[in-house]
Amino acid sequence: PGEQLPHDPTKKTLVVLGSGWGATSLLQKLDTTDYNVVVISPRNYFLFTPLLPSVAVGTLSPHSIIQPTRYITRHKDRTVSVIEAAATDVDPIAQTVTFADESEIQGLISSTTLKYDYLVYAVGAETQTFNIPGVKEHACFMKELEDAEKTHTRFLDCLESAAFPGQSEEEKNRLLHMVVVGGGPTGIELSGEIHDYLEEDLRSWYPELSNNIKISLVEALPSVLPMFSKKLIDYTESTFKEANIDILTKTMVKEIKEKSIVVQGPDGVKREVPCGMVVWAAGNTLRKVTKDLIAKLPEHQTNRRGIAVDDHLRMAGTNGTVFALGDCTATSYAPTAQVAAQQGSYLARVFKQIAKRDALVYELQALENAGSLDEEKQKQKADLTKQVEKSDKVKPFKYSHQGSLAYIGSEKAIADLPFSVGNLAVGGVATYLFWRSAYLSRLFSLRNRTLVATDWVKVKLFGRDVSRE
Ligand code: FAD
Ligand code: NAD
Repeated sequence: PGEQLPHDPTKKTLVVLGSGWGATSLLQKLDTTDYNVVVISPRNYFLFTPLLPSVAVGTLSPHSIIQPTRYITRHKDRTVSVIEAAATDVDPIAQTVTFADESEIQGLISSTTLKYDYLVYAVGAETQTFNIPGVKEHACFMKELEDAEKTHTRFLDCLESAAFPGQSEEEKNRLLHMVVVGGGPTGIELSGEIHDYLEEDLRSWYPELSNNIKISLVEALPSVLPMFSKKLIDYTESTFKEANIDILTKTMVKEIKEKSIVVQGPDGVKREVPCGMVVWAAGNTLRKVTKDLIAKLPEHQTNRRGIAVDDHLRMAGTNGTVFALGDCTATSYAPTAQVAAQQGSYLARVFKQIAKRDALVYELQALENAGSLDEEKQKQKADLTKQVEKSDKVKPFKYSHQGSLAYIGSEKAIADLPFSVGNLAVGGVATYLFWRSAYLSRLFSLRNRTLVATDWVKVKLFGRDVSRE
């Protein structure tokens, strides 16, 4: 569809779905002169998820941690088409992807279908709700930029409502009870950020409310942060205790109501606890478009956790035409940015090799179509066949774990860092400085680094902004 798309009939069409960690890392390294490249994603930017909880409390401004996808594609050697739309259907047999503009404003055409030669499927995941009643209606999430913005607004709304004249102590306690569900790194980091806000800013902006604040973190498993070492779990728990953040482990959330949360503790008894805000960070589940794609290849795709890929990231059952990476796949790796980014860089190298191979095959076919071959052409054909066979040997993807880092509030972070001699598990203020510098350097552009560093300085000098948008 459309003349605007890059179209060179001698090149194959490579469609990339998504603009997150996997897709962005691929686009950064991809040689776009080899393909007609089309990127389709419902958001036209990359979101640096590790700093998202900081946006939820106003430490960072939303625009500091996003980067328009066109910032990358406009510097490429050959035009890349970026389309703001969501893939609604992928047909792996016909090799087509149907996508729709799902934003508020739409033109006369808002849905169409495109044929691909190769598809990179990197649509990530969405937040798992387990169909628990009230989650979608009453909780905030912590996955997309708008989730963090909504949490920020609601959080400030709770504070202002609690400050309303004549509010009873009981109602103030309810409004200022912040509940975070999920003791994975997202829930832990967010609880730490909320604590910082309350400690560093609320005490000066709303001193009369400072004793009514309570933060609870609810986790179904016996411990938080199962991916970190025991020492760091203990360190996090003691830091939270000092910070007055209640950790309720072995506690399942059963329902969320408008003004309360229903939990079931280790004793099996259900309790209804009043609260002002609930943030739901209970892990990932597949998007509908991914579930539908998996269902189309029942013989090859039997893992309900995600897309099954081989060690070259080729989706099983698609004959090497679809590559899947990141949170939408079921692999032995954790669903992290680190994994998705390394997979994206790996695929950029794979596509360079595929392009070379495709060019050789094209040449070979031209030779074969030319009719009878003289001795020299026969030799050329044998040579080309050998080269094609050689280019078929692509190295498999190998993940290199750089360690796990998480911010836990009170200017402390934890880090599990792998070294050849063993694991180094550290936590504290020095680790927090390391966390800051590590994330600053991992931001994709100088622009984002400058914006994030400036936001940190602004908060240090003037505190967080408490105006509610
Ligand atoms: P994503 O980055 O989620 O990207 C998916 C992309 O697909 C998005 O651009 C989305 O808009 C797009 N998309 C969605 N639907 C469609 C559709 N229908 N069609 C086309 N495109 C679509 N990991 C770490 O390693 N370290 C951390 O510190 C860390 N912190 C995190 C903090 C938070 C708050 C969260 C939520 C996650 C964090 N993670 C972290 C995990 C990390 O963000 C994910 O593992 C990573 O984003 C996965 O990359 P991805 O490319 O698979 O998916
Ligand atoms: P997660 O899956 O790691 O944790 C979710 C937690 O919610 C689980 O421990 C689960 O037991 C709990 N839970 C689920 N349902 C519940 C219920 N009804 N009641 C109470 N508890 C419930 O999710 P996450 O923290 O969003 O992380 C997702 C992925 O992103 C992980 O791979 C994680 O490593 C990665 N991540 C990494 C970092 C970091 O490295 N700093 C930060 C954020 C996310």
